[in-house]
Amino acid sequence: MNKKKEKGQLIVLSGPSGVGKSTVIAELLSQRDNIYFSVSYTTRQPRVGEQDGVNYCFVSREEFEGMIARNELLEYAEYVNNYYGTSLKAIQERLDAGIDVLLDIEVQGAAKVKARCPEAIFIFIIPPSFEELSRRLHRRNTDSEDVIAGRLEKAKVEFREIPHYDYLVINDKVADAVGEIEAILTAAECRVENRKGILAQFA
Ligand code: ADP
Ligand code: 5GP
Repeated sequence: MNKKKEKGQLIVLSGPSGVGKSTVIAELLSQRDNIYFSVSYTTRQPRVGEQDGVNYCFVSREEFEGMIARNELLEYAEYVNNYYGTSLKAIQERLDAGIDVLLDIEVQGAAKVKARCPEAIFIFIIPPSFEELSRRLHRRNTDSEDVIAGRLEKAKVEFREIPHYDYLVINDKVADAVGEIEAILTAAECRVENRKGILAQFA
């Protein structure tokens, strides 16, 4: 049976910095085919181990502002003094080719995507507790105490946006969080409107 889709599904994943989004996404991508992780543009400095073009495309403020001016971004936001944004072209090409596209973006950007693409799936990921979020940010050992404090403050504001999302995933154990996201994506694939191609032969 040909399961290739006519159009890919846009999936938006948000959650506070340090909750484990990158960890969960890496595991999800290793398990699931036909899904593309949208590599965002950012003006923040790379962390140790991050690769340009893999984790992010690292650009200057001038380059980023040029992309805004040329309307090249699906959405963008400022987060703890840096710009972050999604390239429209890169994701449109994949969606048109029937490939699912996963965005790891913060809540302001997610709201902009919801306004432009209401059919997208919106998933929010939380830690098992606020204390555990703080522990993870410290254990990651990539940000200064000031930056960590800013990210924890930001997290409290972000949690207020959860009611605008479709699904809430708890990242206690990575494997369980990945399993929940897999279940959400599989359910979306089974929607009648996403199976029109298969249905045609029964008409
Ligand atoms: P984010 O991408 O949301 O900022 P990361 O994926 O960088 O978060 O994870 C932050 C830290 O927490 C990392 O050190 C990572 O190894 C750790 N981590 C991620 N998920 C879990 C988990 N389920 N349990 C314990 N530690 C985790
Ligand atoms: P970090 O600096 O921890 O990698 O990311 C900080 C925040 O920026 C995270 O909440 C992440 O989801 C968000 N982010 C990453 N890329 C984008 C993007 O392209 N657009 C928006 N709006 N947020 C992004």
